[in-house]
Amino acid sequence: MLDSMIITFKQLEMLKGLAEKAYPYEACALLAGSVEVCGSSNTYRVEQVIEVDNADRSSISFSIRDEDLIKAYETITSNGLELVGIFHTHPFSNAYPSGKDLRYMQINPVPWIILAGDEIRAFIVDEGKGVKELRLFIS
Ligand SMILES: [Zn+2]
Repeated sequence: MLDSMIITFKQLEMLKGLAEKAYPYEACALLAGSVEVCGSSNTYRVEQVIEVDNADRSSISFSIRDEDLIKAYETITSNGLELVGIFHTHPFSNAYPSGKDLRYMQINPVPWIILAGDEIRAFIVDEGKGVKELRLFIS
């Protein structure tokens, strides 16, 4: 039942770099990798961080342009990977999904990784009812 996500220290540093670059706005990225299914639990392993622009240029929300999404998906599939996470930052709040995040998480049922300061947490929809937190391993 417990899902996990594995990211490398280097990837984490990269995500922190995106947060600094986008500040005071939210940064966002797509995480490509592979999913290992073991019984009823999934392990998401990040292989690649794909930076995407926050079209909202906002401190409280983000959105990704269609053309950026298409380009990112082309990169993901051409590398033989799949989308394993949607990353964004919360420059001025904690690492927990906002109301808008929760709505979009229902539409995009992959792990959502939120970085707020030094705090990083991952969540995924729990069969359409609310969200559950994933165990996050930094390797
Ligand atoms: Zn958010």
